[in-house]
Parts: sequence; structure tokens; C-alpha cells
Amino acid sequence: MHRNVAKVTFWGVRGSIPTLDRGMWRYGGNTPCIDIVAPNGTRFILDCGTGLRMLGNHWPNSEGDHAEQAHVFVTHYHWDHIQGVPFFRPFYLPQNDFHFYSFQSKYLGRDSLRQVLEAQLARPYFPVDLTLMHASREFSEIDGGDQFEVKGTKVAARWLNHPQGCLGYRLETPAGTIVYATDNEPGVPEMDENLRRLAEGADIFINDAQCSPEQLASTRKGWGHSSWLEGVKLARECGVKNLVLFHHDPDSSDRLVDGYLHAARQEFPNTWAATDGMAVHLCDKAAEFKLRESRVGQRRPVHFSATVSGHAKDGARFQEYAVMKELNLRGGYMWLSHAPQLQSQIHIRVECGTPEQPNPIALRGSVVHCDAARKDDRVGVGVIFIDDSDTALPFD
Ligand SMILES: [Zn+2]
Ligand SMILES: [Zn+2]
Repeated sequence: MHRNVAKVTFWGVRGSIPTLDRGMWRYGGNTPCIDIVAPNGTRFILDCGTGLRMLGNHWPNSEGDHAEQAHVFVTHYHWDHIQGVPFFRPFYLPQNDFHFYSFQSKYLGRDSLRQVLEAQLARPYFPVDLTLMHASREFSEIDGGDQFEVKGTKVAARWLNHPQGCLGYRLETPAGTIVYATDNEPGVPEMDENLRRLAEGADIFINDAQCSPEQLASTRKGWGHSSWLEGVKLARECGVKNLVLFHHDPDSSDRLVDGYLHAARQEFPNTWAATDGMAVHLCDKAAEFKLRESRVGQRRPVHFSATVSGHAKDGARFQEYAVMKELNLRGGYMWLSHAPQLQSQIHIRVECGTPEQPNPIALRGSVVHCDAARKDDRVGVGVIFIDDSDTALPFD
């Protein structure tokens, strides 16, 4: 790996409560957790939602006695940001070392974060008690406005507008700047200014996008959340390079999030919708997004002729003749001469039947993989099929 690379992985992107629903699996159902590995290997964990368990499952050398350290930043104490703690295996291993940071809640007083974490393992809420959590734990109380350095990464914390308080974090690594601003609602001038100062010139700006702009102006006013449109406005105003829509509503289907992403990209092309397992490599301030390994289900090699149309990375529309190489009931893989935008939609018309009696199959897919390694000048493209019984997105 290039020396000056920061790696950001999204382990949980859903707000409020975990979801497990057929119509939500593409974006995922774990509650907020992101980890960031700075170029020098320093590890940061942002929030401890149920996604934390997934991070624990991918933790380096969790079986051996290899020691790992991480700096854990908790934004606030709502369930969806802390509920993964009891299920994070690395907390139970004595060789590990964690440094936690969050604020003093006026409802809890001193040592708020320690109290919150310990209460989750108190009887009768959890079968295992705190004495088995062997990793060393250090707690630091921080406040909005604090700025400090953690092993070469500059960290800034600022208050965001959210019921009972929430901190947004800005991490400036040598490879680029990542801003994590979940759970915030626009409309309080001082807090809006805090958010702008956090977001200023960020390479990756992760912002709450739980509501639609219409909900934010009406039924969800005062709930402490934001919309894709607010993210777009901030991204433009603050010179952000990439906007990530985050904290999807537990009732938002994949199709609805697709719609938010599509609308946001019309205004700010470098917008992405966070999915469980999404990773970003930030190298000298340039971000490369990858979705999780999507090879689910049994694939079958095929050789179907198809006509494929979609949008390239520069937004230009393309149509080409291609051969589909693999197929399963959820997705397919093909080689194209155009590189479609990740998370954009493409239409595929598979030529079936006979020349006398053609019987084409029309499919719509969301691009989940675009392999930069070209073969015969072609790009390997993976798609997940989208159920056409849902309302179609405007596809211009
Ligand atoms: Zn939340
Ligand atoms: Zn919250």
C-alpha cells in the first residue's frame, strides 16, 4: 500500500435502530460505526453502533496475542451510537488498548462515557459482566471547540444541533481530511457555523441525511436530523471534495436512498450514499470509493450478448454492445469499454431467444464494482439487479 494512504471503512450506516429487511440490504442495516486507519497505522473508531461488531469480526489477529490500539470517538449517547459495545470482541482481549473520547452529559455528570459503557454490561441487561472486558480502557472527556493531536492526526470536535447534544469530529490525517457529522439538524445559527467550520475543505464529508428535504421542513422538524439537500449546500459552500450521505432512516428502502443519491448527484456529482462495508482509500487527498465484496449467491458463467446503457464517471451517457460473463439471481458481471460511475444505474438488455423469435430480458442494475484493471481495454463491472416492481428512478 502507498505510504500516504488513509483507509476509511463504514461498518454501520443506518440511523436510530438496526434494520433487516429485504428492501434495505444493499445499503445495510447496522447502526453507526466507521473506522479510519491513518497512514502511520493509527486506528480511529467513530461511534459504537451495531456496525462495531462487524469491525470486531475483521479485527487484525483477534485470536493471537498481537496487541492493537484504537482511539474511539463517540458522538453522543443515543442507543444507535453505543449499542455495539458489548458485542465487540477486541474489548475482551487483554492485549488490546482503547482510548475513548466523548463529552460530559449534563444528565450523567463526570465520566459520562465510562458510565454509559459500563451500564450496558450491568445485570440484568447482558449475560457477561464488566470483569471479563479485559482490554485496557482509558477515557477522556472532550468539549466542543477542543482541538488536539493524536499521533500525527489533528482532531477537532464541535457541537452539533441534536437533542441532548452531539459532537462532530474533523480528523486531519497526512493523507487528507475526514469529517464525521452525523445526527445534526440545520437551523440554529451557532451550530450551523460549527458544522461549516468542521466541513471546510474536507476531502470526505460524512453528513446526516436521514430525512427528505420535505420531511425536514415539516414532520421531522426538531428531530435532530438532516437531508441530502443540506449536505449538498454545505459541500458546495465549504469546498468539500466528496459528500457521503449517512444515517439512513430505518424506514428508508434502498430505492428511497437511491432516489436521495440520484437527486444529490444532480447538484453535487461527488456524492456517495454510505453502505455497510463501503471503504474509501484517501491517498494524497484523492478519494477512491469501493463497495463491499458483493459476490453473493452462486454465480454461473454465461455468455449472453447484451446492450448496456448507463452513465460514465464524467456524467456522459453511453450505450454499448457487451457480453455478460457471469450471472446469478442477484447480479451479474460483465466487461465494458466504458467505466460506469459506482452506485449509478445501468440498463442491460440481454439478447435471448432466436434471431427469428428474439425474446430479450431487460434488467436494471446498480453498479457495485468497477475494476480499474483493464483487460483487453475493458473494465470489469459488477451490478446488483434492482427489482423493477419498485418505482423506477428518473433515468435521463
Ligand atoms: Zn443516531
Ligand atoms: Zn442521536
